[in-house]
Amino acid sequence: MHDLTGYRRRTALTALAGATALLCGGGSARRAVAQPVVPFGGSAGHYRFRVGEIAATVLSDGLIGGPPRIYAIDAPDSELQDALRRAFLPTDHLTLNLNTLLIETGGRRILLEAGAGQTMGPNGGRLFANLAAIGLTPADIDAVVISHTHPDHVGNLRGADGGRAFPRATIFAPRADWEFFVRGDPDLSYMPVPDDFRRRFATAIKRSVQPVARDVELYEAGTEIVPGLATIAAPGHTPGMAAFLVHSGTDQLLLTTDLAYHPVVNVDRSWRPGPDRDPDAALSARRRLFDRAAADRIPVLGFHFPFPGVGRLLKTDAGYAWVPAAWQF
Ligand SMILES: [Zn+2]
Repeated sequence: MHDLTGYRRRTALTALAGATALLCGGGSARRAVAQPVVPFGGSAGHYRFRVGEIAATVLSDGLIGGPPRIYAIDAPDSELQDALRRAFLPTDHLTLNLNTLLIETGGRRILLEAGAGQTMGPNGGRLFANLAAIGLTPADIDAVVISHTHPDHVGNLRGADGGRAFPRATIFAPRADWEFFVRGDPDLSYMPVPDDFRRRFATAIKRSVQPVARDVELYEAGTEIVPGLATIAAPGHTPGMAAFLVHSGTDQLLLTTDLAYHPVVNVDRSWRPGPDRDPDAALSARRRLFDRAAADRIPVLGFHFPFPGVGRLLKTDAGYAWVPAAWQF
């Protein structure tokens, strides 16, 4: 699961700068190399909206990704290639976003998912810059609620100095995942990735949560963490995975966490994510929550969906369709 996206962009920029240098020649070439026209990473990495009285901000932690096959393990080859091409996506790499959500309610700032940091490739770890962009520091976060303990959801819990990245925050993690991945020595042979990736994956989990292990709050999915933030049991992807429902008055937002990785392969097509530990349980959780979102027209946030990951699920004859929400200013 090497992330090639950033490499490709940098290569493209270098090539562009090189071409400009050739065209301009001499001294101006040096300026062209030093100052690309469109600086990489110049777009906003945060997106604000409201759920009733609750202020919500998607904060991107950047990108991960890998071979599309991993995220659509049961797709026939030609159909998978065709679906990606029709979505104007590369056929050899699927980019996944890391859409953490900050909610501000009852005087508390609560971050839903910590993000990957550098645990899944070099293009994660932008959460802190995006927090700073909205005027906040990690010390402003009162709680971090994790849906499941995979590295792309817990990576940022460990600071660069090995301590707690969010010094004041209470960390909430699902008990069944903690038992399986953190206290246990999990057999990850079900994951369709090379052995050394599995080893790094297992190590990254333990290393990421180590600074918060002493006083982590373990929750049972189904409990309300604070008024306005409910966890919903959605096991299958991992033993303890939860979905989240943010609610205020009649407004709701359903966070589908890792029920689906990318709408092109797991919503618009119903292919199965390879890393699901219990595929049947994952499928039934996906259907139950997708049906609820579609029937009640609940806005949805997909953690790995294209940024900012907010939209709705439409029920179709064949399954579901992803309908991104219009950008709010
Ligand atoms: Zn994930």
